[in-house]
Amino acid sequence: MKTLLIKNANVVLPNEVRLTNVLIEDGKITSIGYDGKAEKEIDAKGNYLLAGFVDIHVHGGGGADFMDATPEAFETVVKAHLKCGTTTLLPTAMSATESDLNDFLNAFKEFKNKSEYSALTPGVHLEGPYFSGANAKSSGAQPRGLLRLPDESEMDRLLKVADGGIIRWDAAPELQGSDMFARKCLENGIVCSIAHSVATSEEAQEGIDNGFSHVTHFYNAVTTYRKEGQKVLAGVVEAAYLNDNVTVELICDGRHIPRDILRLALKIKGADKVSAITDGMRISCTDMQGGKLGSLKNGTDVIVDDTVAKLPDMSSYAGSIATMDRCLRVLCKDYGIDIVTASKMLSLAPAKHINAKNIGEIKLGYNADLVIVNTDFEIVNVIKNGIIQN
Ligand SMILES: [Zn+2]
Repeated sequence: MKTLLIKNANVVLPNEVRLTNVLIEDGKITSIGYDGKAEKEIDAKGNYLLAGFVDIHVHGGGGADFMDATPEAFETVVKAHLKCGTTTLLPTAMSATESDLNDFLNAFKEFKNKSEYSALTPGVHLEGPYFSGANAKSSGAQPRGLLRLPDESEMDRLLKVADGGIIRWDAAPELQGSDMFARKCLENGIVCSIAHSVATSEEAQEGIDNGFSHVTHFYNAVTTYRKEGQKVLAGVVEAAYLNDNVTVELICDGRHIPRDILRLALKIKGADKVSAITDGMRISCTDMQGGKLGSLKNGTDVIVDDTVAKLPDMSSYAGSIATMDRCLRVLCKDYGIDIVTASKMLSLAPAKHINAKNIGEIKLGYNADLVIVNTDFEIVNVIKNGIIQN
């Protein structure tokens, strides 16, 4: 049996931070407070020990995008984010043609079969293509010309290619056919999320009644209170607040969401219903100042400005260049969120939102997916399944 002891760590648990030791045996957490010896030991020197980060919405990093659709690109992205503390992630696909989505799904299957990093990806996330192209605000960086209505036969074909590999799928609930979309997702055990939508709160509520249970990058590319002509409308945001069972995710790069929106979401929903995500793209974990969001072949050009990716005409943000460790620093240093709450948002909440088992928390029997950070919240060590990665 392989044993690893992490000593003198400020262990971040769901309700407290405790200075203690954590024992790992064969990749699982088997004791919190163990006083004996182990084959290998790390002295954490009072630094924080957190559950590994779970990023349920990420497009790329390290110079590659999942839409490049090769197993090598998948490995590049996963390795780049692993260095930054992400021990589980959902490769995210942009809205694309059916043939490009097929390529993405096939590359994922190949990556799962042959990569030593495949344990980091339980399945994929399709962000689209059944979105509203009603205005630039709702489409954001999604290619407007490729947005379409939910199409049952296309869904069936994609589900077949994915062969159980899709974990979450996003769509706009106001579109014709969204009830079929939600039903089919639920039938296939897929988490159904509202995104890139111009729904009124009533339309969003209908979607929730049909099975949508999550909202993608909350407050970004979804509707909230607004005036249209003489009419005053509520939107997706208000419907999410009114339904306790609906979970949300926030891009915690310090640019997409101001501190007080984050505090409001936490106050109304509670930390276990609010996931921190990167929505990171190709440029994440690089020094690149521009690149393609989406595939090299068909992607959208973006530039980096003020630590965020933007469309070249500056009309919209185009995904973030964040990593989960940056999100931790934004939450704890810039936004004044305590580390227990931040850890829930970075690990426990996203693990729950995708129904992942045995990850997201430092708990007996759980996978030893762990991160050690110093008091400036910089990465010291990353551990995946009990193996030190750096
Ligand atoms: Zn995205």
